[in-house]
Amino acid sequence: MLMDWMDRNAMNPAAPHRRLLTESRLFAMINASGDCFWELDVDRRFVYISENLARMLGYGAEELVGRSVLEVLTPEYKLEVMRLAMQRGDPKAASAGAMRHEGAFVRKDGSTTWGDTVSVPVFDDAGAHLGYFGITRDITQRKHDEQALREANAQLQAQVQRINQLHEQVREQTIRDELTGVYNRRHFVAVAERELARARRAQQPLSLVMLDVDHFKRVNDDYGHPAGDEALRVIGLLLRSTSRAEDLACRLGGEEFAVLMPGMDHPGAVARAQEWRAALASLKTRFAGVDLSLTASFGVATYPQHADTLDALMSSVDKRLYRAKEAGRNQVIGAE
Ligand code: GH3
Ligand code: MG
Ligand code: MG
Repeated sequence: MLMDWMDRNAMNPAAPHRRLLTESRLFAMINASGDCFWELDVDRRFVYISENLARMLGYGAEELVGRSVLEVLTPEYKLEVMRLAMQRGDPKAASAGAMRHEGAFVRKDGSTTWGDTVSVPVFDDAGAHLGYFGITRDITQRKHDEQALREANAQLQAQVQRINQLHEQVREQTIRDELTGVYNRRHFVAVAERELARARRAQQPLSLVMLDVDHFKRVNDDYGHPAGDEALRVIGLLLRSTSRAEDLACRLGGEEFAVLMPGMDHPGAVARAQEWRAALASLKTRFAGVDLSLTASFGVATYPQHADTLDALMSSVDKRLYRAKEAGRNQVIGAE
């Protein structure tokens, strides 16, 4: 074996290049490094364990000799070692090389400790398989540090996620109307400008529907402001739940709402407005034991037929809405 050769060579004063290491000096060095050294027979029973390994596992040095190494591995590590051994195949085969693995050992007191191990099969001079020897490094501290790092990371991730959620909430608060949940006027104007530019580029129509609740002042006067609020909430819900994903429903202010419909042509938008008008007229908002009925008047205009800018589109819709009021309310007015 390598060790024997080293010893012979070290002892021979006539050798041209005398090796400095003897087996005992090598062991002393491994011990001094803090690493553990061990030997197993062909059945993987301990033949020798170094002081460091005995200390690491909490056993007396002689206590483990003759016992299977599998006894001091956790069930998971045992499986892993057996899997690797199968993968390596016959230890006598020329291809059998070193095995490197890390895993948890069960100490005598039942606690676990982590090791990083390199092992190789050992043969005698005639090539007979004698067993295995290896070096194990205690990596328990590193494993604990890694675990602490993972936990700190997970905490950080959770905090980042929470901050993102809060950002999202704040953003939602700044773009939504608090009472009705539809978008607010500021967001509507920003998105409408963008959508109009997109419609222009893509040469697509863009329709705008605006509605104003009829005689809403009376609702407040007759049933109180909270009842009026509830009615507005119901209208917001109606618009949100019945518009397409690409539509933008918003409350322009007071009892005035708008729905921006990218890609929608004029007849389609008028038809949608008629549906909303009918739905609203047949809807009863129950508040404090009273059924409130509402109607609204609608104006509809479409880019590019009726206007070229957002201002012009809004003013065209506004005029039609006013005409719907004049013509008796609860109706939709689009292009003649
Ligand atoms: P018209 O059919 O001509 O539109 O009549 P109207 O009464 O709806 O019109 P007017 O503009 O005179 O009144 C709108 C009312 O809407 C007045 C205001 O008190 C009420 N209003 C505006 N914002 C809110 C709100 O957030 N909650 C409640 N409850 N009422 C609101
Ligand atoms: Mg109004
Ligand atoms: Mg009104």
